Amino acid sequence: MSKLPNVGTTIFSIMSALAAQHKAINLSQGFPDFDCDDLLKKLVTEAMEDGYNQYAPMPGIMPLREVIAQKIENLYGQQVNPDTEITITPGGTYAIFTAIATCIGPGDEVIIFEPAYDSYIPNVRVNGGVPVMIPLSYPDYSIDWNLVRSKITPRTKMIMINTPHNPTASIISREDLEELQKIVTEHKLLVLSDEVYEHLIYDGEAHLSILRYPELLRNSFVTFSFGKVFHNTGWKMGYCVAPAHLMAEYRKVHQYLCFSVNTPMQYGLSRYLQTPEHYLSLPGFYQQKRDYFLELMKDTRFTPLHSKGSYFQLMRYDRISNEGDKDFATRITKEFGVASIPVSAFYENGKDDHVLRFCFAKKKETLEQAAERLRKI
Ligand code: GLN
Repeated sequence: MSKLPNVGTTIFSIMSALAAQHKAINLSQGFPDFDCDDLLKKLVTEAMEDGYNQYAPMPGIMPLREVIAQKIENLYGQQVNPDTEITITPGGTYAIFTAIATCIGPGDEVIIFEPAYDSYIPNVRVNGGVPVMIPLSYPDYSIDWNLVRSKITPRTKMIMINTPHNPTASIISREDLEELQKIVTEHKLLVLSDEVYEHLIYDGEAHLSILRYPELLRNSFVTFSFGKVFHNTGWKMGYCVAPAHLMAEYRKVHQYLCFSVNTPMQYGLSRYLQTPEHYLSLPGFYQQKRDYFLELMKDTRFTPLHSKGSYFQLMRYDRISNEGDKDFATRITKEFGVASIPVSAFYENGKDDHVLRFCFAKKKETLEQAAERLRKI
């Protein structure tokens, strides 16, 4: 029996295991190789010592939901009700799955742009839905809205977007959101917007959250991750924002999937979030890393594509080899000691543009050592 007969092991596990096996520098799976802030750890420890060690309320503790609502108002000018419109989740991936499980049933079609984060398609399928894949144009990874229109059918239920985008590091434009709004209104569709990289956006661009657009938000689930923001992906903490009528349904699923989320971490995060500087400093912090990595990579034969957001940098390798990207990524992990993610893993049919994804959420020394090895290829 299998509900997901064509699904193997996620590429993130495969490449991280290969990196460990060959003692390679791991620029594959997206996580920082530096620790989160000592203050945040201290706040969580204090919450444990203060006795916050039993179940949190099902939607999350109120102080955390309130400070999130405050952040949303400050950043995106939107008033969100912390009581009815925010739910704390064990990570962003869970928040996405739960939104899909809430709305998608047998035969429902979900529009997904590809390359796509690798959980989206299985999330839809395991709920009986039908993923309808729409390729982003290569190499700028933009959306062809006429193509989107041509794929809408009476069974279309939801459109998924992701900005800043994993794996391509592209960001959505104002025009994209206008098109999205027209389509969603005309066909009465839901939107699932994965915004886990909301603070990782560069060159002075503003993050165009769905939360800025009340019309769109009315039919949307928007998902976020603390792991990406505060350098603690292992904590598996995130949240979902949706209007009350959708959030009520979301919580029906959430309460029987995990019931509630780690209590002391919620208290620690709620106190840490009181200082906006903790997240406002992120674009500058990561832009420096992106620019440093690009500078280091100038002496290699890789060709960078434009990284506008996220902590990923795509690199073409057609000046080096015409191997398939999975073979090439495997070989450079084994022979040169640097692990990356082959971008074909994010396409349902394995479309291969000979592009690798490198994660630059790493210490300076790590990026320097990786570039030194990549120069030898
Ligand atoms: N989001 C991270 C990435 O894209 C890792 C997620 C995971 O390992 N499941 O690399």
